[in-house]
Amino acid sequence: MTNFWKQSGIPHKGWILIDVIDVREDEQSEDETEYESCMMCGNERIRYVHIVEHREINEEFRVGCVCAEKMTNDYLNPGRRESELRNRANRRKNWKKKTWKLSSKLNWYIKVEDHIIVIFKDKFTSKYKVMIDKTIGNKFFKDLEDAKMAAFNGIEYFKENKEW
Ligand SMILES: [Zn+2]
Repeated sequence: MTNFWKQSGIPHKGWILIDVIDVREDEQSEDETEYESCMMCGNERIRYVHIVEHREINEEFRVGCVCAEKMTNDYLNPGRRESELRNRANRRKNWKKKTWKLSSKLNWYIKVEDHIIVIFKDKFTSKYKVMIDKTIGNKFFKDLEDAKMAAFNGIEYFKENKEW
């Protein structure tokens, strides 16, 4: 692959960071992950892809953190956004190891950072529903594990938005 740092034709500066994504999907293992290569330096096996744009270039560039920092001349945000994703991936992994308790009404529950999460079976559909504190989610889940992951997403959403 081409290393554009050693060539002219592609600007080295003036890029804007659009987004950072984790190419590993939620249930994927390391082997299954489709890593990308950095479009700027050609480095392979990039998990956290930084998407950058330049007004003189028609396509987005998908690059690694180090290149994104140099291209945007921003040595703070690319790394910070990558570590947010990294932390979330770790929290998600830990979430799966949590032990849920069974209440006297046979609902699964867990307490997380001052929130009570309850997973109960809906009487009419016998599918699972998720309740966080007093808020009941709209979705029904056939699978208990899916309901638990929905609870994780709910808590994450709460942390980002500080409200329901
Ligand atoms: Zn690179």
